[in-house]
Amino acid sequence: MSFGVKFMLLVAVSAVGTYVFIKKPWKKEAQEMKLSVKDINVDDKTHPVVIIGGGPAGLTAAIYLSQARFSPILLEGKMPGGALTQSHAVQNWPGEKEIRGSVLMDQMREHALHAGAKIESKEVVSVDFSSWPLKIVVKDILSGKEEEIKALSCFIATGSAPNFLGIPGERGADGYFGKGVSTCAVCDGGLFRGKTVAIVGGGDSAIVEAEYLSSLVKQVHIFVRKDSFRAADGVKDRVLAQDNVKVHFNTEVQKINGDGKKVTGVALKNNVSGQESEIVIDGLFLAIGSHPNTDIFCDHIECDDYGYIVLKDGQRTSVESVFAAGDVADPVYKQAITSSGDACKAALQIMSFLRSVGVATSKVEAVEEKEVEKKEEKAKKEPEPEKVEVKDGPKVEVEAEKEEPSVSSEVEEQDDATGEIIKVENASNFRRMIKDSSRPAVVDFYATWCMPCKLMHPIFEAAAQSFAGRADFYSINIDEVGEIAREHGIQGIPTFLFLDPSGEEQDRVVGAQSAEDLTEKIESLL
Ligand code: NDP
Repeated sequence: MSFGVKFMLLVAVSAVGTYVFIKKPWKKEAQEMKLSVKDINVDDKTHPVVIIGGGPAGLTAAIYLSQARFSPILLEGKMPGGALTQSHAVQNWPGEKEIRGSVLMDQMREHALHAGAKIESKEVVSVDFSSWPLKIVVKDILSGKEEEIKALSCFIATGSAPNFLGIPGERGADGYFGKGVSTCAVCDGGLFRGKTVAIVGGGDSAIVEAEYLSSLVKQVHIFVRKDSFRAADGVKDRVLAQDNVKVHFNTEVQKINGDGKKVTGVALKNNVSGQESEIVIDGLFLAIGSHPNTDIFCDHIECDDYGYIVLKDGQRTSVESVFAAGDVADPVYKQAITSSGDACKAALQIMSFLRSVGVATSKVEAVEEKEVEKKEEKAKKEPEPEKVEVKDGPKVEVEAEKEEPSVSSEVEEQDDATGEIIKVENASNFRRMIKDSSRPAVVDFYATWCMPCKLMHPIFEAAAQSFAGRADFYSINIDEVGEIAREHGIQGIPTFLFLDPSGEEQDRVVGAQSAEDLTEKIESLL
């Protein structure tokens, strides 16, 4: 081989090597090193274990790690409770014959808190697993503030996100997502009572959604692209026997039609005969599977071609201090119970990893005690509230003397600038309040079982405070005052509706919003 050829080969090999090194830094750590807390600076921003994701996997690991006193911090992101909160009836959780997904997840969350886990309403923006401690940049959902935290170990349990068809009329500025197109029958089904809806998909989700919707709506169509279902028999046969469920095999949805505000129908194609047709529907539910939420991780740990995290030896990833379980690493089973089971294994492996690097639970407690001491010291330095003697009565603490407002100014202030959210209890009151007010209005349509709605409550409260006197803020529980939701064609929750002073709709946004986005939106409409 000539020198030139050898040189070219050398360049090519090192280029590939450099590419692997740059693109896949996990390769580097896999070949290294003995980690020890003695070699690093553990400050109060360094957590023993950071759990990313608040679904069954994240919460199960939080329970185990808290009970073992490893002080986990769980970042629950924008969807506390995860995808299971969208299931109206979980029938295979041992010990619960049937339970609403949101109730099950509330109970798990409560259990994790009771065990001592710290749960934060933050989402992960980026990670850097190339060195140890691991670096994680998080964003506070409420304030939008970002900060970097460090972790001795990390458990990824970010679950999966629904797939979309990628057809015209589905998403984007001219799309109908949240205006009739939905990925969650249990969230939005109630808004289609007595109407005609369609489901796309032939798996278990499509069947479960059809069962739920058939009890609410007039007619359910199911569009299956093959000539058979993928879903298991049993429930399927019972659902398909319903009078108001009609299956269309070999049928693909080509386009979603609408009137600008809501879905009015879909264009279909039979993929065997080639025949095209249109059908009138009010809502379209997508049940076409899901993909793992691993975008921010796959440059840092090994993932397969479909984005699932590759595991070895239980729940270990390609980076020694990083573990994963649940839908992020499971292309096959995707059950809540398998997620929880695998998360339990992960928690036990994490404990063993933390011990191996020199973290004893007593050390974790020592760091915690130090933090408590610091807080107590800080509190001591702050001035004591003034104590005022009240004759013939107990001693009371008051912050400062306040002037009593006159009755009239109190009423005026309450009307003008308290920043309180008005909870709507009946439709006619709401219409009257909108008619009588000279301010624009922002209306939050929610339900008590909707997790993203819960997440939005503090954000909406903060917005009401900051726009006090400039706009009125209302909240409407769609299960209690459904009439208003129907009147405004609300087809997904949470929806925030913006009305001008005459009560005309100016705009609406559907789904969880960051505090920043909601504030910006309100500001732009005032
Ligand atoms: P699946 O991946 O099982 O099914 C997806 C369905 O959507 C398939 O019929 C697939 O068609 C179809 N599909 C995919 N892409 C398109 C497209 N672009 N256009 C039209 N159709 C499309 O997903 P599921 O969400 O139904 O289930 C996921 C997992 O969760 C499974 O393991 C399931 O068993 C489980 N599950 C269990 C439940 C239970 O109660 N036990 C309830 C719900 C889910 P094709 O078959 O042609 O690929």
